[in-house]
Amino acid sequence: MCDNFLFLTTEFHEVKRIKFRRILLMLLVLFNTVLSGGCQTRTTNGAEPPSSPDTKAPDTRPPVWNGVPGEFKSAMLGVLRPGEPFVVAAAGAAQGTVAGSVKMQAVLIKGDKQLSKAVFFNLGEVSRRGPVIAAVMAVPVSAGAGRGILRIEAGGRLLNSIEVTIEERKYVTETFSITTEMSDILTKPDPEKTRQAEQLWAVWARTGDTIYTQGDFVMPVNSTVQTSVFGIKRVYRYPNGKTSNSVHTGVDWRAPTGTPIFAPAPGRVALAMNRITTGNTVVIEHMPGVYSICQHLDKIAVKEGDIVQAGTRIGDAGATGFATGAHLHWEVRVATEYADPMVFLGRKVLDKEAILAILNE
Ligand SMILES: [Zn+2]
Repeated sequence: MCDNFLFLTTEFHEVKRIKFRRILLMLLVLFNTVLSGGCQTRTTNGAEPPSSPDTKAPDTRPPVWNGVPGEFKSAMLGVLRPGEPFVVAAAGAAQGTVAGSVKMQAVLIKGDKQLSKAVFFNLGEVSRRGPVIAAVMAVPVSAGAGRGILRIEAGGRLLNSIEVTIEERKYVTETFSITTEMSDILTKPDPEKTRQAEQLWAVWARTGDTIYTQGDFVMPVNSTVQTSVFGIKRVYRYPNGKTSNSVHTGVDWRAPTGTPIFAPAPGRVALAMNRITTGNTVVIEHMPGVYSICQHLDKIAVKEGDIVQAGTRIGDAGATGFATGAHLHWEVRVATEYADPMVFLGRKVLDKEAILAILNE
């Protein structure tokens, strides 16, 4: 049994609650956008609202590419499999929109279902088509194999769509019977637990603009025993006969209390605190929208805002929070989706050279 499967369910319910709130908020924003009647489009066409030149802030935006629409090119890097990350990059005439006020995003759709989405950021590179933007995304574990569409949107307007194929990746399902006491822990409302879940969600939902690393990642702990793999589907059977479902969102490594835990890649410490469910927790931002989360630490050795390198000691392993034994739970979030950390160990996820090679074709 995984050491910390229970807190995952608790988090799962909290996150579901937060996701519902977010959907409501998004609907409100969408409604407002419809009401505002596309004023953003007018602004990008040059009809700027009157403003005094003296008070105008200096323009620090990246150069606008004056290409023609036909020169817009997008690229998808990586293999689309459930639970795995991939990158979408683009350059060309649409860059004018990027440099302006309209946010661009990539949306993965299968059938009539939106699987995931991510906000584009500036890659800091210029292709022969102009400045390059990129978005790191992940295919949700729950996505089945089949054909899908990757939409590149600006302010809700479709700029480009790419046909993609999601390959098969199956995850094992396990069933656990849990005691009344455990059931209480899962279902008992706790405002502080909810507040902490919202706080964590707000951290990893942010797409920053700093690329601390393109990859590769290194092992965050010196351990050869993986006690639980990524993506295992879990069914919890309660004493009253009811069941609920959960998924293991990271990987677990056996690590006795006091074992050094390292940053798996360069980044900025976005959160370092003790949480009810995950214990002493360190969250590191590695690239825009990509975060590592290391849980159940005995001690934390960094503070929020610290810049770390791959291999920087961020704390010691432990069994804090809802864990029945000392281990490291390492999770990677990509635009809020959980992705298999082992993929980040194997390859450079955000490969600038590969992106430029495609966009320069
Ligand atoms: Zn775990």
